[in-house]
Amino acid sequence: MLNPLALVSEGADACADAHVADACVPDAHVADTCVPAAHVPGTAAPLLELREYSLRLRRDGTGLLDKVSFRLGTGEIVGLIGESGCGKTLLALSLIRLLEPNLFTVAGQVFWRGEDILAWPEKRLISWRGKELAMIFQEPMTSLNPVWRVGAQVAEAIRLHQPVGVKEAASLACQALRQAAVAAPERLMRQYPHELSGGLRQRVMLAIAMANRPRLILADEPTTALDVSIQAQILELMLRLREETGASFLLITHDLAVVAEVCDRALVMYAGRVVEAAATRDLLDTPRHWYTRGLLASLPGLDGEGRLPVIPGAVPAPAQYNWRGCGFAGRCRRALPRCGREPPPWSDVGAGHWVRCHAPA
Ligand code: SF4
Repeated sequence: MLNPLALVSEGADACADAHVADACVPDAHVADTCVPAAHVPGTAAPLLELREYSLRLRRDGTGLLDKVSFRLGTGEIVGLIGESGCGKTLLALSLIRLLEPNLFTVAGQVFWRGEDILAWPEKRLISWRGKELAMIFQEPMTSLNPVWRVGAQVAEAIRLHQPVGVKEAASLACQALRQAAVAAPERLMRQYPHELSGGLRQRVMLAIAMANRPRLILADEPTTALDVSIQAQILELMLRLREETGASFLLITHDLAVVAEVCDRALVMYAGRVVEAAATRDLLDTPRHWYTRGLLASLPGLDGEGRLPVIPGAVPAPAQYNWRGCGFAGRCRRALPRCGREPPPWSDVGAGHWVRCHAPA
């Protein structure tokens, strides 16, 4: 396994050094799970570290993300899993700072190689985004520009961050496509997105993301719309790119098979909170949070016999997130009376496996 990704546990002393953005909405629930940096296992400096990162709608204070804390190391592939509506994509978009700042308030800290990016000026963000941190967005057909040829779109990403002319950018774009395992990159450069298959469009997205050799790629459901054989090729490609360039990936997915295939570690997200984190094998073999258990139990088997167990109810809308207690309490068959009113603290259940539950499995 590569560098450890770690969640931090409850405590009070980090409250003192937690950065809270000026415009942050006061949060009555911050102190109860505030975490000390000393509880983060591992000594290696992480590439990305979130500490108590929270996000709210500025308009009415609706909470969207609550004290998300984790580390991601160099060369690590971390899966971020959970049902739709749990906040996975929102977390990625806010990490790459693509959300309109006038609409949201943030609290906590996001460290990039030790620097708090929440304090960076816009100029620094522009030179960092796309160069050091890149994102593969959901659904390449709507992310690529339909009226630009593929070559121009890859070359544009290169020219934004590298001092090269038009010809050299085109040549680097061709190399990036070749690195993304495109068989005939010269021909593809002249094509438009609508002329490509889903698998090829996804490779173009990977080529754009990798064009400036970023340290970390946020990949949001990169294989969801693909059939299994193309999905396997894209996952293999990610592993190869990690091998060749040392890039890390935060892989957002609701597909646990994808997590099992490529991720070193996994985070489980529910209702705007990370509720469990562990090495992938450990998480899949011995899930300790009842939500994770429910997700795994609802996977269909190959025998197709019997009714699939399902988690009762549905993910609430953000305005209904219950952060006064466990956000999963309304759907949990094991809920205790206190689950609805006391936020569960982080517990280290061994070997870097962390869970937020009053009565872990
Ligand atoms: S804290 Fe309570 S409601 Fe939440 S998962 Fe654990 S047992 Fe269930």
